[in-house]
Amino acid sequence: MLPKFVRSTRRQFLNRLGAVSLASSLPLGRLFTPSATRVFAAPQSFAMHTFKNRMPLASSAFYPLPLGSIRPTGWLLDQLKIQANGLGGHLDETWADVSPSSGWLGGMGESWERGPYFIDGLIPLAWMLDDARLKAKAQRFIDWTLDHQAENGMIGPSSNNDWWPRIVMLKALTQYQELTGDPRVIPAMEKYLHHQLGELPTRPLRDWGKFRWQDELISVVWLYNRTGSPWLLDLARLLHAQGYNWQSQYADFHYTQRITRDYLKLEENDNGLKDLALSTHGVNNAQAIKAGPAWSLVSGSSVDRAAILQMISELDKYHGLPNGMFSCDEHLAGRDPSQGSELCSVVEYMFSLEHALAITGDASLGDRLERLAFNALPGAFTDDMWAHQYNQEPNQVECSLHQKPWTTDGPESNLYGLEPNFGCCTANFHQGWPKFANSLIMLSGDQNNDAHDGLVVAAYAPCEARTNIRGTNVYLIQETSYPFRGTVRLTVNPAAPLAFPLQLRIPAWAAGTAITVNGQSIPAPSPSSFARIERTWREGDRVEIAFPMAPRISHWFHDSAAVERGPLVFSYGIGESWVKLRDRDMTADWQVFPSSQWNYALKVNTNASDDAISIHEHEFSGQVFSASHSPIELEVRARKLIDWCAEDGAANTLPQSPVVSDQPEETIRLIPYAAAKLRVTAFPQLKT
Ligand SMILES: [Zn+2]
Repeated sequence: MLPKFVRSTRRQFLNRLGAVSLASSLPLGRLFTPSATRVFAAPQSFAMHTFKNRMPLASSAFYPLPLGSIRPTGWLLDQLKIQANGLGGHLDETWADVSPSSGWLGGMGESWERGPYFIDGLIPLAWMLDDARLKAKAQRFIDWTLDHQAENGMIGPSSNNDWWPRIVMLKALTQYQELTGDPRVIPAMEKYLHHQLGELPTRPLRDWGKFRWQDELISVVWLYNRTGSPWLLDLARLLHAQGYNWQSQYADFHYTQRITRDYLKLEENDNGLKDLALSTHGVNNAQAIKAGPAWSLVSGSSVDRAAILQMISELDKYHGLPNGMFSCDEHLAGRDPSQGSELCSVVEYMFSLEHALAITGDASLGDRLERLAFNALPGAFTDDMWAHQYNQEPNQVECSLHQKPWTTDGPESNLYGLEPNFGCCTANFHQGWPKFANSLIMLSGDQNNDAHDGLVVAAYAPCEARTNIRGTNVYLIQETSYPFRGTVRLTVNPAAPLAFPLQLRIPAWAAGTAITVNGQSIPAPSPSSFARIERTWREGDRVEIAFPMAPRISHWFHDSAAVERGPLVFSYGIGESWVKLRDRDMTADWQVFPSSQWNYALKVNTNASDDAISIHEHEFSGQVFSASHSPIELEVRARKLIDWCAEDGAANTLPQSPVVSDQPEETIRLIPYAAAKLRVTAFPQLKT
């Protein structure tokens, strides 16, 4: 199955690129015996070093700190523990696809994406919690992969040679290497990628790999920054050349309508993998969000770097939902808030934003990341994270066996369960929280000059970061109950007095944010930017941020209204009746039926903050996204709309606002989107 003529194939490829001199000047032994391991020091000191982009790659605005530098605390630590105590820490014990029968453990079972998906999130989770049990689970997949690399460099189960699952495994390997410094990883990656460089000209990217090429590009850049092997840039260019052109799709965007089975002619395609289906596929688009910025590192083009803003803008315009997602159930599905979004697309959108935020330094990408992390991500799980949805809806009035309203998904799509509709999300959801935690603090600085290095608070949640700036250890503490409260306290602790810039992301909604440094106010920062504080920092220096937390109204499909406060979106929590559909070994599949009416129209002001919405803060309990323990709730005036009802498990199309109602005015309670497992988020707005 594997090619016999890797060397000649590679030479042919280099000839085609006009790189004959490179091919002939590099001894083949150098190509096949990478010497990368020599650049690594002991894991402990290595973990402190943040790699910047190596020339001739373009500079990034910021650089993610190596995994292990950031530890979540407070409610975020609680959330990771909930994940570890739920399905996230036990999946291999109850689901055959990542059990010892996995092909990625040498078994005869599932041998495609699910093993790599699982450890792509399990690795950062296990090490962030310093949990030996979870580390051992992840280590088995890593060891099998490294111990069974083929002579020609191929990795993974020999039952398939698809590039796509190996793209996921590369993401897992890079994280594992950052955490452990395991000297086997870099040579194994070089050997595999060199094999792929030789193979791609005759066995090009196809199907999922063709549409998800940018996810391999980030691992190739990661490796190039560590080894400097020039052929890795040839591989980067080849991935771009063979990969789907997402920028061109969004430069002239045609997929502005709900994409149906008929439109895709799915019944005529026996495998559903035609380009039309793949280019309108939700998860593919979520992964593609990072394509422009990631490629801009190689191309040096500012147009490529900015392409992400055009992509997000088009997705919002035609498919945007109040939870920060675009609809995809599982193809692009329009703006109706009864449409769903697949959980894989939530975690992949987050991962794309984390990378793109670092590359571009665009504050709006941090706003979107928080919107997804604090709303759409937890909204797809039960409080204990033992069950999840495939599709979640902003207006989710019933979770039951029904076909409406999904474009191409099946009738189990919004059940809470082990593997509703399809098992990809079961394997892939694990990366959401841990990678978000690792993206809270980043390094800023020039590519070739450490003199201007500094720290960036890219997103807000409780954590501690330990890093190193120009040889001085810096311990940064972020204490906050954000997003449930509006204050953030940072304590900067350099080991010795040290001058560097500290940049703080100011969200677009945060006009009026106040910042003090050791009690002294600094000039008001601009929304949608990074406030920059340059000073010589000394141990114990305090920065306090007070965000304005007045409720706001945003407008959506048919001029409906959603209530927001900070990065949280609020929903009316419909009464829930949970009915077990079937046991699934350690967990179960659940339907949820409404036990109260939900057809409210809101009486709110259209513009700016709304004094008529009252705020009620409650104590923290450890389950911040639970309806029964929510640290925050709002009260708002509303009237029922008797004509607005549900059909086949989905709320009927929202009436165009403004609306009138002769029903009595009531006060209703709104809770965070993620806490309401049955919910209305986009409301008709009453005429004032
Ligand atoms: Zn999925």
